[in-house]
Amino acid sequence: MTEQMLIGVDLGGTTTKLAFMNHYGEISHKWEIPTDNTNEGKNITTNIAKAIDEKIKELHLTKNQFVGIGMGAPGPVNLQTGVVYNTVNLGWKDHYPLKDLLEMETSLPAVIDNDANCAALGEMWKGAGDGAKDLVCVTLGTGVGGGVITNGDIVQGISGAAGEIGHITAIPEGGTPCNCGKTGCLETIASATGIVRLAVEKLKQGVESASELASIYSELGHVSAKDVFDTAREGDPISTAVIKEVASYLGLALANIANTLNPEKIVLGGGVSKAGDILLTPVKQKFQTYAFPRVAQSTEIELATLGNDAGVIGAAWLIKHKGSNSTLNS
Ligand code: ZN
Repeated sequence: MTEQMLIGVDLGGTTTKLAFMNHYGEISHKWEIPTDNTNEGKNITTNIAKAIDEKIKELHLTKNQFVGIGMGAPGPVNLQTGVVYNTVNLGWKDHYPLKDLLEMETSLPAVIDNDANCAALGEMWKGAGDGAKDLVCVTLGTGVGGGVITNGDIVQGISGAAGEIGHITAIPEGGTPCNCGKTGCLETIASATGIVRLAVEKLKQGVESASELASIYSELGHVSAKDVFDTAREGDPISTAVIKEVASYLGLALANIANTLNPEKIVLGGGVSKAGDILLTPVKQKFQTYAFPRVAQSTEIELATLGNDAGVIGAAWLIKHKGSNSTLNS
């Protein structure tokens, strides 16, 4: 019997990542297609099905060599029904039956979860988790995503919205508006967008001492989160102040999460986490200050190791472990 393979799909607002892998989570083929948000997002599942069919043909494989498809989608998902809520950026109406449509288009069983949850599962299975079954993953990207794993399984919550770590209220009064409709969410501070906003606020207040970040800003009219981290490494006073503020709020939020769950690891992923120690060190310091002593001693904060592959690997874990829920199998 030939080895059965898994398909992992990470559906993003602009690109969709796809990968074929074996039962050990070892990727044999990975590629990307653009996400087509037009026509109320109705082309998305068709395009994914076509991409999979073309790749299977190209590799001289057959569909019955695949267990099914696991997919991470941006937005809260009902894991049982595969219905996705509130995904305005993909053009879908509320309560979009993603699993049913994907199964019909591909004739393969499918399991859907939130994209940040898939990234957390990926890190648990093949990344920084390294055998940890109690793990919290925080994705610091354009926004801030979160996935909470206890005893090897994602915590879904009563409506699929558990682990929305980006929307923990960091500033109760007078915070910046967030995409979710609230104000003062962690995402408005600890995302790449939030870091840039804080930096620009400080730059507009005027600069008293020499600042490379201020030079970049006056030259280009904008700065990136990477500029903030790069100049902070050279001791830039404004960038250093921005990172101190970000680390303070992030360290506090992580300490409160850890006080509730006492996970073995908190894994920080996403583009912002690539800053490395310049961010990780002050976050760990604040975490130590705010966490319950026994939690501070036992919960580790680490950087994610899978990069962009976390989502497809975690999605494949889903079909491997949750595939029997599929309606195609019943
Ligand atoms: Zn929010």
